[in-house]
Amino acid sequence: MKVPFLDFSNSYKELKTEIDLAISRVLESGYYIGGPEVESFESEYANYCGTKYCVGVANGLDALILALKACEVGHGDEVIVPSNTYIATWLAVSSVGAKIIPVEPDDYYNIDTNKIEEKITKKTKAIIPVHLYGQSVNLDPILELSKKNSIKVIEDAAQAHGAKYKDKRIGGHGDIIAWSFYPGKNLGAIGDGGAITTNDPELAEKIKLYRNYGSRIKYYNEVQGVNSRLDSIQAAILRAKLQRLDQWNEKRSAVATLYLNQLSNVSQIILPKIPDWTTPVWHQFVIRTSHRDELQKALEENGIGTMIHYPNPPHLQKAYEDLNWKQGSFPISEKIHTEVLSLPCNPDLTSDQISHVIDGIKKKLG
Ligand SMILES: *Cc1c(COP(=O)(O)O)cnc(C)c1O
Repeated sequence: MKVPFLDFSNSYKELKTEIDLAISRVLESGYYIGGPEVESFESEYANYCGTKYCVGVANGLDALILALKACEVGHGDEVIVPSNTYIATWLAVSSVGAKIIPVEPDDYYNIDTNKIEEKITKKTKAIIPVHLYGQSVNLDPILELSKKNSIKVIEDAAQAHGAKYKDKRIGGHGDIIAWSFYPGKNLGAIGDGGAITTNDPELAEKIKLYRNYGSRIKYYNEVQGVNSRLDSIQAAILRAKLQRLDQWNEKRSAVATLYLNQLSNVSQIILPKIPDWTTPVWHQFVIRTSHRDELQKALEENGIGTMIHYPNPPHLQKAYEDLNWKQGSFPISEKIHTEVLSLPCNPDLTSDQISHVIDGIKKKLG
C-alpha cells in the first residue's frame, strides 16, 4: 500500500467544479491584478479569522517582510524569533536589516515564553512568535511583554489557518499576523499566495501601500514599495477552498487522534503534546525518536512518505554563517532537528492508510 506524504492535487480533485468555475470567473472578468476576487477573499478571510482587515500579498515571506516594514523595523533594531522555525521567519528579519535574536522552544516546539523577557533590550522592536505545526503559541504572556515594553507582535501563522488560541481563531491577537497560502499549507493556493490580517487600520493601510509600489493613486508613489500582490486567480481559488477549511482541519484532527491513541504505547517515540490553550489544526503531525533516520527508511520501504520539519536549524544554515552561531548555540532546537519526523496527516487519508502508517511504526519500534 502507498501512503504519499502529501499530494497537492487531491484538494483540486475534490473541489474541481468550484475551482474550475473560480478560474473561468477571473478569466472572463478581465481583472487579472486585484479586482473583486481579491477584495472578496480579503473580506471573507478577515471574517473567518474574526479580524477587521486582511490584505493579500504574493507569499508568506513577503507577508512577514511587509509586516516588519509596516512596523518600521529596520537597521539597528532587534527582533525576537524562535530558534526552532522554518527559515522564512529569520529571512524576513535579516532582509529588513534588523538583528535576529533567537529564543529556544518549549515542550510544544514553539517559542518558550519564559525565555523572552531576558532577551528584551532597548533595541527590541518586535517579536515574531511562530505557530509551528498548527499549534498556537501561548500568546498572552507575549502580548503582556509587548504592552509593557512597547514591542510589536507579528505572528507567523503560515502553519495555523483555523487554529485557535483559547477560544479565538489565530488572526487578530498580535499587531499583524502573516499568512502563507503555499499549496501545502492548510489553506493553500495552486501557486504562491500570502496575506496579513490585523485589527489596526493604519497598519492595514501601510501594507496595502507597500504591496503596490508604495502607491495609492496610480503613478503617485508615497513610499518605496514593492510588487507583492495576491494574484486574482489564486484569490478566487482560495475563496473556494476557504469553504472547506474547517472540514479539512477536522479530518486532519481525526487522523491525529488516531495516531495519538494508537501510538501511545510505543515507548521509543515522543508524541506531540497539546497545551490546554490551543485547538491545533495539525499542519504537521510530528513525532520524535532517536531512531529517526532508521524509522524513516523503514517506512519508506513500506510505501509510506514522511518528511523532516526541519533537518537543519536556521542558525546552522550556510546562509547565516556570518552570524557565527555554532553547534551548541541553541541545543534544544538542535536536538529537535535530529529527532523529528512528520507523518502523513492529510484530510484525504483513508483509515487503511492510517493503519498502515501505525503498523509500520510499531513493526519498526514497537
Ligand atoms: C511556509 C512558511 C512560510 C513562508 O511562506 P511562503 O508562502 O512559502 O513564502 C513562513 N513561515 C513558516 C513557518 C512557514 O511554514
